[in-house]
Amino acid sequence: MAKSIFIDTTRCTACRGCQVACKQWHDHKAVPTKQTGTHQNPPDLTPNNFKLVRFSEHKIDGHVHWLFFPDQCRHCLQPACKATADMYVEGAIVQDEATGIVVCTEKTKKLTKEQCDEIIESCPYNIPRRNEVSGELAKCDMCIDRVQAGLVPMCVKTCCTGAMSFGEREDMLIKAKLRLTQAQADLE
Ligand code: SF4
Ligand code: SF4
Ligand code: SF4
Repeated sequence: MAKSIFIDTTRCTACRGCQVACKQWHDHKAVPTKQTGTHQNPPDLTPNNFKLVRFSEHKIDGHVHWLFFPDQCRHCLQPACKATADMYVEGAIVQDEATGIVVCTEKTKKLTKEQCDEIIESCPYNIPRRNEVSGELAKCDMCIDRVQAGLVPMCVKTCCTGAMSFGEREDMLIKAKLRLTQAQADLE
């Protein structure tokens, strides 16, 4: 059964606890960053930032709305990244049979920069990033080590508003549809 993460963006306060928790669990080093006129920091996903809370402003019905979107790998059922990687190096990106989790492996080091760029372009969500020093591709691994130990991903555990949920894909879909109905009703 495929595992999924459901993010209810109506409940996200952009505290970025999930972003920090992800870095801490993966022992990711701090990366140089810069102010770009937004609270979105760092400006984009990096090999050391598997999770990024995106900030955007939109004018809707004459009012400015500040919208937050916690971004990470979707662990697609049919991952384009894996299909593209398999054309060059078998096993560079693998999909765990038991959970459906899509993971980059050390074999991504064997890919050329051009092949990595193709893999990144194949992802409809622009998720993987290449470590320019090691040559490896990196992205959210759904905390597969935690999941295989019966724990929830670190970002889900950390989220204090209940915006993030983790479980069987079917259950997450039911939850998402219910929340969408409720959120639409709240707007009426
Ligand atoms: Fe899907 Fe992109 Fe994640 Fe691959 S990297 S599983 S294509 S979201
Ligand atoms: Fe990071 Fe794990 Fe959350 Fe993916 S599931 S964003 S690796 S904490
Ligand atoms: Fe949003 Fe939860 Fe992440 Fe905070 S921890 S930014 S509320 S998803």
